[in-house]
Amino acid sequence: AKSDGKARWAQFDPERNANEVARLRLAASMPAALEREEFYVDYQPLIGLRDSSVVGVEALVRWGHPDLGRLGPDKFIGLAEETGLIVPLGRWVLRKACEQAKRWQDRFGDEAPFVSVNLAVRQSRDPNLVMDVAEILEETGLAPHRLQLELTESAIMSTADEPLDKLRALSRMGVRIAIDDFGTGYSNLAYLRHLPVHELKIAGSFMEGLRDAERADPVDARIVGTLVDLAHTLGLTVTAEGVETQAQARRMAEIGCETGQGYLWAKPGDPTTVTDYIASHLE
Ligand code: C2E
Ligand code: CA
Ligand code: CA
Repeated sequence: AKSDGKARWAQFDPERNANEVARLRLAASMPAALEREEFYVDYQPLIGLRDSSVVGVEALVRWGHPDLGRLGPDKFIGLAEETGLIVPLGRWVLRKACEQAKRWQDRFGDEAPFVSVNLAVRQSRDPNLVMDVAEILEETGLAPHRLQLELTESAIMSTADEPLDKLRALSRMGVRIAIDDFGTGYSNLAYLRHLPVHELKIAGSFMEGLRDAERADPVDARIVGTLVDLAHTLGLTVTAEGVETQAQARRMAEIGCETGQGYLWAKPGDPTTVTDYIASHLE
């Protein structure tokens, strides 16, 4: 035991310890921040590659921190997953996003985009998930087909104790289900055909090799082509994430991908900016 103590002190690293303290302090301050509504949601358009219409809009959470300034989700979603705060935070994002999508529904009618909301692993395991979604749709008046939920492959696999009952229930309600970051997780292609999924979102990392038309990476191009074919075989639509160049958009359109998302069209923006964007793409 004596040598244990010594070993621990020998490994003590003040810098690492300070980081850990900062992390824990940030985690501890999140519940009050949620209470005070320091979080907000930006929206990024999903563009139809055939006609440039705004098919959907992804909701992306941010934290307007009083001391640290604007924090992106990479700074706090992982922490919120660890502490479990992701469940109430995620529910708050879902409600905000549905309220905003209802405004678009009222203004744009049949041409209104769906709103696509990210679900963390912890949320996909939450026994109240289906009821919460039903309640939020009911209270906001958003049509269920104007809500899409994005789950990563690992979030989908972790709903597996109640063999996909939750996803089926949501799908029966009319809510769309998308697989996020497809191709980066552990992919069991066989399970895909049994999932009530409507859309595959191909991870932005696959766009790298398609950046320039002349210097396209043939392996990346074939992988992406194969993923799109697989999705279509299963009756799913495909969104290409992280599209930054015309060459990428053109290539994805050529191989039959329906939708694109990325800085080429629009960065995530506030509701007013995105509303103007949707309106300007209607004519
Ligand atoms: P994601 O779901 O893959 O979201 C797409 C991310 O790619 C966003 O980063 C977006 O700003 C960024 N992006 C969009 N277009 C481009 C592009 O053309 N190039 C590049 N390089 N990046 C692009 P963001 O907003 O920082 O979000 C990061 C991640 O945080 C998200 O990745 C998602 O996993 C997570 N996240 C965001 N909001 C939520 C939320 O409400 N709940 C949960 N559970 N996770 C969230
Ligand atoms: Ca996403
Ligand atoms: Ca993604």
